[in-house]
Amino acid sequence: PVNEVYFGFELVKKYNDKLWVHADTLSDFAKSFILPKAEEPPFTPFEFNRRPSQKIVVGNLDVGGDAVPRVELEVKASLSNVEKVRDEIIFSAKPFLRDGAKSEFTSITTDCIDDVKAIQAALNEKFVAPILSVSVSQMLTAKALVNSVDKIRLNIKRGDVPFEKEGLQHLVGRAAIEFSFVKTDETDTAIAEILTRLAEKCRAVGLERAMFSIQAKDIIYPYRRLAQAFKKAQITFPIVLRYDARHVQPTNNPHAKIPDSTIDASTLCTVAVQLGTLLCDGIGDAVALCSNLLRGDELNLVYNILQATRYRMTKTEFISCPSCGRTLFDLEEVTAKIKARTAHLKGLKIGIMGCIVNGPGEMADADFGYVGTGVGEISLYVGKEVVERHIPEAEAVDRLVELIKRHGKWQEPEASLAEETQS
Ligand code: SF4
Repeated sequence: PVNEVYFGFELVKKYNDKLWVHADTLSDFAKSFILPKAEEPPFTPFEFNRRPSQKIVVGNLDVGGDAVPRVELEVKASLSNVEKVRDEIIFSAKPFLRDGAKSEFTSITTDCIDDVKAIQAALNEKFVAPILSVSVSQMLTAKALVNSVDKIRLNIKRGDVPFEKEGLQHLVGRAAIEFSFVKTDETDTAIAEILTRLAEKCRAVGLERAMFSIQAKDIIYPYRRLAQAFKKAQITFPIVLRYDARHVQPTNNPHAKIPDSTIDASTLCTVAVQLGTLLCDGIGDAVALCSNLLRGDELNLVYNILQATRYRMTKTEFISCPSCGRTLFDLEEVTAKIKARTAHLKGLKIGIMGCIVNGPGEMADADFGYVGTGVGEISLYVGKEVVERHIPEAEAVDRLVELIKRHGKWQEPEASLAEETQS
């Protein structure tokens, strides 16, 4: 709990910052001007439903439909240093051992065709062909690259949206096209209307491998508005959640830092709130993050958000209670012991609860549970059902492992490592 306090403060601050209008202090007359009329949201707030989208192929990967949300990260090195860019792309596209996290699309930003050619040649020399996403601002560059790369992000601003049929037809080719609206002072509704019109044009000219995104400081409301407009117009193109966190000021509180990483509470909370909220709404077929974090931290953060929102279970999930006066064993020590034995079991959820009073309720979502039921006594759960009662604490971790094995969910650590390396 001591470590969680700072993150709690950060979350509350983010919420309070948004309350620039205190609705409860306004008269009904004032509210009618300031507060927008409630409309049907593009998601059901009481249950999870992923926004239905059509599956398209980008490089050799599916995006949209029932495919897991894909991950895209931006190259940080200067494009003038081709070798550094090449090495960064190779590093990002290589799965991290243990949880297999990797950047499935790696993005470079340039309108210079020669830059792209130089980087592709450098990658060819190393016999690697990651899925390159080229971010361009000019239609001419997009047209020139459409048959030589797998993905193009066309950054568009109000006034330069390519609505003409002829222009869009030139974008039908090898590359999937992400139309990315750069928000300035437009309303969220205006952006949603522009992108809906553009999506309808894409459909009309047969540009089927299109995706849509918005670039803004606060992406939650514009994306919700977009999903709502797409739903109304029955548009099912995939939506890319794109977030640039480079503006986030790290907190100067030394306690609000995660040891051995560049992630601080402010960056973690901002990115988690922006991307996580939309993923929980069911919106997002790909997640693209740009930040000042080190590449490994960036990958970890994105995968943790995808894991927490239950889209991509890349590692074991431990759901432990914060501990309190009722806790019947040393929660930190036991959690560490269980982690040491089971952290390689991809996708499994294990609940570790200090007592029987609240524990089973708090871990209702877990596959297996370890719950204190008396001094030195543990009960084990499979889902919500108790399967072993009051076993001695000294044997409990071994018995939990046996239980996982009996239910066919066990993998030897070496086997799971080999599987990760291949995937
Ligand atoms: S599960 Fe029990 S021990 Fe853990 S915090 Fe809740 S009440 Fe306390």
